[in-house]
Amino acid sequence: MEQLIAKIKAIQAEVTAIEHAAALLGWDQVTYMPSGGAEDRGNSLAALSNIAHTKLTAPEIGEMLAELEPHIAELNPESDDVRWFKVTKRNYEKQTRLPAEFVMRFARETTIAQMKWQEAREKSDFSIFQPNLESLVEMAKEAAGFFAPYDHPYDALLDMYEPGMKTADVKAIFNDLRPRQVELIKAIMDSPQVDDSFLFQQFPKQAQWDFGMEVLNAFGYDFNRGRQDYTIHPFTTSFGVNDVRITTRILENNLVSGMMSTMHEGGHGLYELGLDPAHAYDALGSSASLAIHESQSRMFENLIGRSMPFWKHFYPRLQSYFPSQLGNVGLEQFYRAVNKVQPSLIRVEADEATYNLHIMLRLEVEMGLIEGKIAVAHLPEFWNSKMEEYLGVVPPDDAQGVLQDVHWSNGLFGYFSTYALGNLVSAQLWEVMNRDMPNLYEDIEKGKFYDLLTWLRTNIHNHGSRYEPQELIERVTGSRITPEPYVKYLTDKYSAIYKF
Ligand SMILES: [Zn+2]
Repeated sequence: MEQLIAKIKAIQAEVTAIEHAAALLGWDQVTYMPSGGAEDRGNSLAALSNIAHTKLTAPEIGEMLAELEPHIAELNPESDDVRWFKVTKRNYEKQTRLPAEFVMRFARETTIAQMKWQEAREKSDFSIFQPNLESLVEMAKEAAGFFAPYDHPYDALLDMYEPGMKTADVKAIFNDLRPRQVELIKAIMDSPQVDDSFLFQQFPKQAQWDFGMEVLNAFGYDFNRGRQDYTIHPFTTSFGVNDVRITTRILENNLVSGMMSTMHEGGHGLYELGLDPAHAYDALGSSASLAIHESQSRMFENLIGRSMPFWKHFYPRLQSYFPSQLGNVGLEQFYRAVNKVQPSLIRVEADEATYNLHIMLRLEVEMGLIEGKIAVAHLPEFWNSKMEEYLGVVPPDDAQGVLQDVHWSNGLFGYFSTYALGNLVSAQLWEVMNRDMPNLYEDIEKGKFYDLLTWLRTNIHNHGSRYEPQELIERVTGSRITPEPYVKYLTDKYSAIYKF
């Protein structure tokens, strides 16, 4: 048994190293690569991905797993070997159930669909993208079919990003959350609006960068094991547990955008840096899921980065970088401004209070498409009527409506929910953290994040993918993912800011 485990782990280690190399090529592609390098880079990435896929789907792994199964069944279910086996088997099945013919057809369809989506968005004409989206929806149903039996075809799609999460769970959470968020936004909109115009003056790029680095250092980001660079669409990437890189985008006429992006990616990066080095090269060494990842980024961006204790410490620092722009703006005024709520058309620009409604709309669309209850041709109308119902705003065109996100043109169905789930998890963890660390607010006010990071390391980061997301959250908070803490957090915060 030990020998079989060692053999599979050796393959996992090799593939992990190949994936790190591919990640480095991908990072370079969107940071420093000259545009002329695109084609060669594409070839290198495709070759590496092919080698990794071939190794991971080798039939001999399936045979070894089958041989191991009866021995594993006799071990303590909490042991490393049992946990490792479960994750390895799950990953192997995901990678082998889709036939090679389907994978190739899918790659071809999504390449064309992305081009069509881009053109459709530029011309703001949904009909250009419609036939491609129709075929991708059919392929999503086909993909789900390879994972039958299931309670709902959407389960298979969701499981790609949230292992073990069921459609019924997400539906129940969102049905509970939706009316309460709609009500909260109505209350906010009935109150006098906050003035945030001073956030849109000129803020030199270098000073914004320097302030962001100061915050990352305070959070405990270890720059001997990572770095930050500029890019267009910020992301985090890892080439190993000792080289985790984040990226940011800074706009000179918008102070909040870059600052929040830096803190958001910082949260993702701290998670990757906190994974257990003992499992760095095997199946337990990666993050638990996209929602858990997003809970970490959202916590640093919002629960910390938009909180009063944080700004009590950092606002004087920020003012020292921008004395002429912020010298006459008080702390309270600044705090209210970075927390302004304004229903808007674009998801990625949405504030904390409205963000989840953008996600719920997308889940309804995806479910409707997969269940065959909504025809692709009717999407723009469906989208616009739901925007009006949830947020009270109607897109003037498809580019600012149904065509705004890249995900569906990449064939990513089931992905969006993880953003909203991440928000809920962040607040759920935050409640427990405040219970475990009664001095948490005082620490943040002093710019101290050591205990906070240690708590996250111990309770979340270090476990990697040992537990499925729902299991992990239940172990830490005592219940599965629930909207209560997030609703309470939003209500407490905004009733104070908007005085209702
Ligand atoms: Zn994120």
